Amino acid sequence: MTPLEELRHSASHILATALLRLYPDAKLDIGPPTDTGFYYDIDLDHKLTMEDLARIEAEMRKVAEENQPFLRKEVSREEAAAIIRSRGQERYKLGRLADIPEGEKISFYQNGEFMDLCAGTHLRYSSKVKAFRLLSIAGAYHRGDEKNKQLQRIYGTAFPTKEELARYLQQVEQAKHRDHRKVGRDLRLFVIDEDVGQGLILWTPNGSIIRQELQNFIGEELRKQGYSQVFTPHIGKLDLYKISGHFPYYKESQFTPVVENQALAGLLTEGCSCADMVARLEAFSSHMAAQINARTGRETITPDRVKPDPLLLEGFMLKPMNCPHHIKIYASQPHSYRDLPVRLAEFGTVYRWEQSGELNGMTRVRGFTQDDAHLFCTEDQVAQELLGCLALVKIILTTLGMSDYRVRVGLRDPDSNKYTGLKENWDKAEAACREAVKTLGGAYTEEPGEAAFYGPKIDFVVKDVIGREWQLGTVQVDYNLPIRFDLSYSGADNLPHRPVMIHRAPFGSMERFCGVLIEHFGGDFPVWLSPEQVRLIPISEKTIDYGRELLGLLKAAGVRASLDEHNDKLGAKIRRAEMEKVPYALVLGAKEAEARSVSVRSRARGDEGVVPFDPFLARVQEEVRLRALSERKSRPEPGAA
Ligand SMILES: [Zn+2]
Ligand SMILES: [Zn+2]
Repeated sequence: MTPLEELRHSASHILATALLRLYPDAKLDIGPPTDTGFYYDIDLDHKLTMEDLARIEAEMRKVAEENQPFLRKEVSREEAAAIIRSRGQERYKLGRLADIPEGEKISFYQNGEFMDLCAGTHLRYSSKVKAFRLLSIAGAYHRGDEKNKQLQRIYGTAFPTKEELARYLQQVEQAKHRDHRKVGRDLRLFVIDEDVGQGLILWTPNGSIIRQELQNFIGEELRKQGYSQVFTPHIGKLDLYKISGHFPYYKESQFTPVVENQALAGLLTEGCSCADMVARLEAFSSHMAAQINARTGRETITPDRVKPDPLLLEGFMLKPMNCPHHIKIYASQPHSYRDLPVRLAEFGTVYRWEQSGELNGMTRVRGFTQDDAHLFCTEDQVAQELLGCLALVKIILTTLGMSDYRVRVGLRDPDSNKYTGLKENWDKAEAACREAVKTLGGAYTEEPGEAAFYGPKIDFVVKDVIGREWQLGTVQVDYNLPIRFDLSYSGADNLPHRPVMIHRAPFGSMERFCGVLIEHFGGDFPVWLSPEQVRLIPISEKTIDYGRELLGLLKAAGVRASLDEHNDKLGAKIRRAEMEKVPYALVLGAKEAEARSVSVRSRARGDEGVVPFDPFLARVQEEVRLRALSERKSRPEPGAA
């Protein structure tokens, strides 16, 4: 464990100590450190409240002040079981004990009266845990499995110093106001409806504007980089994914296949069981197995997975990936080295099965649209194409004010043989990734063992305005799928050659990316992304006609505007525009109507006084055209005194 993990894990033992003092009947499961703190999962009939957390935290302070040493004790498996039983903790801890592989050391850590099955490591004394806080309670299934009992998970955090803790708590507080689920509801950006299904995002008109603007922006950059747009269906035959290897290997994270009505009816009359049906869906024909084995040059599909043709069952799958569809577009015609690289882009929707406990607003969903593309190029073009992919990401992140990001390069584990492809290709591709990342000029880390089995990859981790990190999408080099699909191009030597594929979805998905953007901007989108850009506010009925005229002009100019015709007081109308985070509210009085001017209240910069309408309109259009970020008033304006 790192020193910080050790601190946090020690805090979770202190939490368990305090908890058992207050609730001796509590059954403990596990209490590991996390990226931002620690938790402990407990089984307790009493449903904990925030008041209870305060009491537990107070008790934790006592435990810390008692300055208990953390003592390690190694025991045999039998002794371990006896200790667990003597403490009445057999409900979960015996199972956790059984998880420890034979031959591995079994240890307990004791502090004061508390003793926990634990591999360690820990601080030496409980008093070293000074800056900590319990934060929340959530439901968590034992072992993350919905079939098991739901436990109560107590989240907390701990830092080496009080200052760091205070800074983190402030960040958490800010994050609450920015939570995309809350902002999304307030600004009516998206909904999730139980009748449609968990993890399935319904983009409402406001949210759709943001998504469409982003797609337009990304689409423009793709055209500049020579990408071709394609569209593909949401399903594909199981055979397609058997060739690609996505099925049945990853079936746990996919929706169950769809079987044709007639085939299903046939199975029913045969009296086929569900298990039979699954086995028949997952089997390979001898023809396909032979093909895949010949292409990969080894026994990729073992004989036990092959069934005679009449027993095979065809089905369709909601696509978990866009790659096989794009590959089929590439393969639909012959290619010469002269027309490479081929770059196929699609905002392609894919479906993955996530446990319902894992779902979270827009950031963990079951259906999502990737900003996907697949590049088919020669070995020599890989480096240049990687540069292009990264340049694109950089342009987009910079435009969105997310210039604070780091990059991770996932490389092979030199000691493993799970990787496909030739060593010299890997060396070249890894070197190309490294070189490409250097051109970004920012921080990057190399992570051996983090490559996919089919090639190295580059990941982006973006820091938002309040300092939280978000993992976005990846760029991956792939030597595997071109082999499995037997892709080729004819080289300058007129012989067939294997192209290399690059998969890239730099933002992961539109859902996740918009969720991150909502939190990054806190709902205060720059003008070009705002669902409503200008709100017209007549002071009284007398200027409603003037308002209607301006509304017509704004709409004709392509500006998203509305006119507030409610009968409220001016203050109420202005507040409403503020609540709805409209970047510009234009107040229209008699004087303004007379002079064809508007009184501008900018959300970013406050009251900007009265200006003529035409130059105002021109300025908004320019802001949109440049996709400018809104200059905040807290930042001194250039040239300001
Ligand atoms: Zn421990
Ligand atoms: Zn792909």
